[in-house]
Amino acid sequence: MAKSYYDVLGVTKSASDDEIKSAYRKLAKQYHPDLHPGDKAVADKFKEVNEAYEVLGDPQKRAAYDKPSGGSAGGAGADFGGGAGGSFFDDFVNMFNGQGKESGGASSGGDISLNVTLTFEEAAFGVAKDITVNRFEPCSACRGTGAKGGTQYVKCNNCGGTGKVRFAQETPFGRVVSMKACNVCGGTGRIIKELCTSCGGRGLLRKNTTLRITFPAGIEPNQIMTVPGEGERSRNGTKSGNLVLMINVMPHKFFKRKGLDLAIEVPISFTQALLGDKIYVPTLKGAKVAFPLPEGTQSGTTFKLKGHGIENAKKGIAGDLLVSIDIELPKNLTKDQKNKIKELHESLRPEQYDKAKEFYKPKQ
Ligand SMILES: [Zn+2]
Ligand SMILES: [Zn+2]
Repeated sequence: MAKSYYDVLGVTKSASDDEIKSAYRKLAKQYHPDLHPGDKAVADKFKEVNEAYEVLGDPQKRAAYDKPSGGSAGGAGADFGGGAGGSFFDDFVNMFNGQGKESGGASSGGDISLNVTLTFEEAAFGVAKDITVNRFEPCSACRGTGAKGGTQYVKCNNCGGTGKVRFAQETPFGRVVSMKACNVCGGTGRIIKELCTSCGGRGLLRKNTTLRITFPAGIEPNQIMTVPGEGERSRNGTKSGNLVLMINVMPHKFFKRKGLDLAIEVPISFTQALLGDKIYVPTLKGAKVAFPLPEGTQSGTTFKLKGHGIENAKKGIAGDLLVSIDIELPKNLTKDQKNKIKELHESLRPEQYDKAKEFYKPKQ
């Protein structure tokens, strides 16, 4: 079996991300093929170091690699080898020129976070909404190149178009020759003859863009929804960031929500509670559901109306509507009303009250 990726980078299995990065940078510089033209052994070593870092430098791939099962040491190289092209090399170039971030999302777009407020019903039933995002877009005047007319480029004379220059440094250990990004062209190998007047040479412009976003039914308060590729654009439009939506749901006047279940408190009169009644319970959709309230319903009793909660069409399920009974007493009774109620009260026997009977039971 080949050396483990940890051995290749010369770090321990418990090395931190920073330690891995730093070890990689040191080795990548040491074995960079530009510094050893025609040396096959060094080129292979460089490849090996890159392969190791591609896995260990990515927390997810590293975790998969660390898993003891499946003999991943051999397989990982094959699994991840395919991706070693574009993005990885970009990172490598950025590492040398040290200005990848400075260019305002030129090489890859960042994520954008936005707060979105949905009404209770929108969150429950789902909604398509227009969301305005202020983000970098490639400048249309120069097609993202930053050069006037999109074509006004010349080869950089300083680096001969390679974007890299050699430089020698005297160190306590002797003269060290290495490569760095060309400071004239910023590592691109090209120089813009005339800057685009629309974007000032940046290649990107901040613009308001309106997106139609579909919020699925049953979205939860404080849920985070990621819309891939709708964050900051990159210059060439290939590596956009994500749009991250933090969802706030407004409360409802009557309904409360617990997952797909809805809860509502329904006020009834004391006569309805005593005698029972057919009551009509509102649902979130608007239609009312008839419900036979049983005789002698106590305050705080909860009934479950199955399937009248929030539907999750995707999963083909629906929550329930939980109806809790709130007995409301009438106010401002007339003398006559009070007398009739007293009369009723006097006609009732103590054993007709279950709880009170228990509560006030004389001690024996
Ligand atoms: Zn432009
Ligand atoms: Zn240059």
